Amino acid sequence: MHKADTVVSVGNTKIGGTNLGVIAGPCAVETHEFLDQIAARVKAAGATILRGGAFKPRTSPYSFQGHGEKGLQLLREAGNKYGLPIVTEVMDTKQIDLVCRYADMLQIGARNMQNFELLKEIGQTNKPVLLKRGMSATVKDLLMSAEYILASGNPNVVLCERGVRSFEDLTRNMLDLASIKGQCHLPEIVDPSHATGRRDLIPAMARAAVAAGADGVHVEVHCCPEKALSDGPQALLPEQFDALMKDIRKLAEMFGKRIQSPS
Ligand code: PEP
Ligand code: MN
Repeated sequence: MHKADTVVSVGNTKIGGTNLGVIAGPCAVETHEFLDQIAARVKAAGATILRGGAFKPRTSPYSFQGHGEKGLQLLREAGNKYGLPIVTEVMDTKQIDLVCRYADMLQIGARNMQNFELLKEIGQTNKPVLLKRGMSATVKDLLMSAEYILASGNPNVVLCERGVRSFEDLTRNMLDLASIKGQCHLPEIVDPSHATGRRDLIPAMARAAVAAGADGVHVEVHCCPEKALSDGPQALLPEQFDALMKDIRKLAEMFGKRIQSPS
């Protein structure tokens, strides 16, 4: 707990304070061709961080599990080529050293938000962390999980609201916009992709998040969602992401914030 907003640096960009972060990219790193096209488009539209999973937490063991180190290599290459820092998920303590060799930011997914051993070890790295809210976690639970990382020595945590489970089944999860801001000094971003699971709802929920005071958004984008190996139905098309970025820029200006392009 302290009064001043924490600003987290990720590569050459920042999230928090007056800096609005825009994390975009495919759910999973698939082929070089897909990732290259997606990275080019999100960079051109103004995203500040490229995302993509190499280790994927899938409900079914028979679904695509990610390309592992090959995926990390592809993501690093795309990040370097387009001048974007990269964020990717770490699912297990055994993966930390490997992921740290490639990524600028480590993602803890919703399913691991209370994997306390993972949080403690991530807290001993010097990489900024994107900590996603568990699907049945309260805001207090989320803050205590962040505290595990901070208490282990890593102060650079960005929180992410990505919807919680509810009785409602029109959307994949239920976006809890009221949970953001005012709870603590850490930056908090919103992921309308996993929160809704629906491409048609993402732009409006992303705009609402920025209007509600979020420090950024986290959006899945794919050039060919019908061929995506995970989360295709919730990937924005690049042209939809272009349009969303125009809106977000206007909102940022209204709220005295800026989207700092990593250079
Ligand atoms: C993801 O970011 O692709 C992901 C698996 O998210 P979550 O952990 O929020 O479900
Ligand atoms: Mn996903």
